[in-house]
Amino acid sequence: MERDEMINWLSPDRDPADLYARADKARREAVGDAVHLRGLIEFSNFCRRRCYYCGIRAGNAKVRRYRLTEGQVLDCARTAKRLNYGSVVMQSGEDSHWGPAQLAEVVSKVKRETGLAITLSVGEHTREEYKLLRAAGADRFLLRFETSDRRLFGMFKPDSDYDNRFRCLAWLKEAGFQVGSGVMAGLPGQTLESMADDILLFKRLELDMVGIGPFIANPDTPMAGAVSGTLDAALRMVALTRIVTKNAHIPATTAMGSIDPQGRQKALRCGANVLMPNISPTEHRVDYSLYPGKICTNEAPEQCAGCVDAMLDSLGRKRAEGAGHSLKV
Ligand code: SAH
Repeated sequence: MERDEMINWLSPDRDPADLYARADKARREAVGDAVHLRGLIEFSNFCRRRCYYCGIRAGNAKVRRYRLTEGQVLDCARTAKRLNYGSVVMQSGEDSHWGPAQLAEVVSKVKRETGLAITLSVGEHTREEYKLLRAAGADRFLLRFETSDRRLFGMFKPDSDYDNRFRCLAWLKEAGFQVGSGVMAGLPGQTLESMADDILLFKRLELDMVGIGPFIANPDTPMAGAVSGTLDAALRMVALTRIVTKNAHIPATTAMGSIDPQGRQKALRCGANVLMPNISPTEHRVDYSLYPGKICTNEAPEQCAGCVDAMLDSLGRKRAEGAGHSLKV
């Protein structure tokens, strides 16, 4: 699909029904009806960065900081295994106490004990550190580039470098990870053109996984009072990403479910084929507060599993078997 056509579909005035139908068909043909469940472990909300959009940014005194112990992370992974999820996603801020060396240790233990596929989402590190994590047994890595627009990136990530973000993605690929990236939809100042460029970049980077969620303004950040993105914009991006990338794994994200109770269901019907139910200890969920209104903060892992199975039932979809590795060759 050409860039101009994408821009046209991204326009909020255009009826997206045909786009969604086309994306749903592309999803069925490329990845089938099964939905992969990845258990999300939010293992630390300490972060050295000050991204303007993010609630766990350094310096936000309103956040009650926590980090799970190695034993707690292992317990979460056991829960994932018990709930029959194919993989775990370990996500955190950039926490020096949970640096690559410590992470590598817990990754190898999770791998040895559960055999689950392991995805990391722990931000920017060096080429050698990525290699270490890969050697320890991590299979996949998520690092959203957040926006393809260099100027916007600079505005919202004051202590990160645009080029380094992409260098990290290249290093991850070189280290042999299945690589996921993604963006927020509806960042203030984001244009339809830049959203189309995000999607073209997903394709060019040959990503194994693409995560897209609406930007949700967080009152405890410098972006308090900004206008949040819409579910509509995020769904249009998911649909176009499915059509363009064909068989990438695309989650129906928590942010989508947080701005609309039907958000994840809608995403699963216009291109998404992955869900990431939370398996973090209930007591800490509320403190992993990237944005307000986050869903499932009072639930236990079992409840999220039940809820997700009911969701799949209602959509006529089923759980996928196995680890759900990349479908790219
Ligand atoms: N620290 C890691 C991963 C944790 S944050 C990293 O930087 O890669 C995971 C994702 O949450 C981010 O990539 C961002 O896209 C999203 N996020 C953060 N704040 C958000 C907000 N206010 N609204 C919506 N999504 C947000």
